[in-house]
Amino acid sequence: MNDSFIYLDHAATTPLDPRVLEAMTPYLTSNFGNAASRQHPLGQEAAAAVERARGQVAQLIGADPREIVFTSGATEANNLALKGVAEARAYERSPKHFVTARTEHHAVLDPLSSLEEHHGHAVTVLPVDERGVVDLELVDRALGQGPRLLSLMHANNEIGTLHPVAELGRLSREHGVLFHTDASQSVGKLPVDVDAMKIDLLSLSAHKFNGPKGVGALFLRRSSPRVRCAPLIDGGGHERGRRSGTLNVPGIVGLGAAAELAASEMMEESGRVAGLRRRLEDALLNRLEGVHRNGPAEERLPGIANLSFEGADAESLLKRLQGVCASSSSACTSAQLQESHVLRAIGATESTISSSIRFSLGRSTTESEIDLALDSIVASVEAERAQGPLDSCQL
Ligand SMILES: *Cc1c(COP(=O)(O)O)cnc(C)c1O
Repeated sequence: MNDSFIYLDHAATTPLDPRVLEAMTPYLTSNFGNAASRQHPLGQEAAAAVERARGQVAQLIGADPREIVFTSGATEANNLALKGVAEARAYERSPKHFVTARTEHHAVLDPLSSLEEHHGHAVTVLPVDERGVVDLELVDRALGQGPRLLSLMHANNEIGTLHPVAELGRLSREHGVLFHTDASQSVGKLPVDVDAMKIDLLSLSAHKFNGPKGVGALFLRRSSPRVRCAPLIDGGGHERGRRSGTLNVPGIVGLGAAAELAASEMMEESGRVAGLRRRLEDALLNRLEGVHRNGPAEERLPGIANLSFEGADAESLLKRLQGVCASSSSACTSAQLQESHVLRAIGATESTISSSIRFSLGRSTTESEIDLALDSIVASVEAERAQGPLDSCQL
């Protein structure tokens, strides 16, 4: 892959698996048909490829292929799930009530804010504990107030916390509340079964599990209960009217191929990645003073280590980490310092947040990369502590 960098930012995006690229290539070149052109062989070939991919995605999460709607990614899938249910005419007339938690991705929190601010719906945002987990009793109480939908992510993208989705699904079903989960970080890495977990809507994204960017899917349960979801995008009636627009055939084929690879390799791969993450975390905790883990010790994604380094500025540290790609939880934009709402929600102090770095490992990560990265991180933290921050954040 790219030899000049050690890429430890797989929670942001993952490299395309070469086998996925190989599956996509014909649909970028010779097989360029529109999947809606059923009258000729090129269109028929594209449509067949899309249906194969639909089956591969459905298989990965235990769904029926007819329950899969292809989208441009998880952001769109979340928007479609939340706004689609809010707008669905089959449900009671507005306003509807939604329940979520503080550590959700902005692709859930922002559509919900919009529904609340501009469309008169009600939103309850639950707190989480220091591990980033919602209190099931609080969830139970909120569900007792008769909301239409509960949206809680399976795995957190910053600190790797896993929510007890099967429990949440069971509670939702008991209360007759729809359960949506943003599973962008867990699909392809951990087993997900929409029936066993009683999930009614699920968002996923290809580029988080070695597929291409710009393609994802929303699972919409067809029966018991049948989920009603109004389209965000109207047009040619593609995807059974749920998402119009010419299908991104190569992207969808890539999503399907990535799903099939993940299904067969994830168990072994997750064990390997968890081992490498432990190697990284343990060594940093041993070799440096003042290193703290953000997030849970157990019940977590295999590949995410979010650590704070006392006395270091994360932005400055990332600059010093030449050749190691990771991400900080606070970002200096042109005008403002944006702090991680996730670290805030688990009670982290300002100084913890500003000294926190997320290292996220994936399929392409090797043991020798971890060992090289370790030396570089230790040296950078020591330099940072000795010299103070590089002038990274001029506000
Ligand atoms: C990456 C991510 C998204 C956004 O997915 P896109 O396909 O990039 O739009 C949403 N939620 C979570 C938890 C993510 O990690």
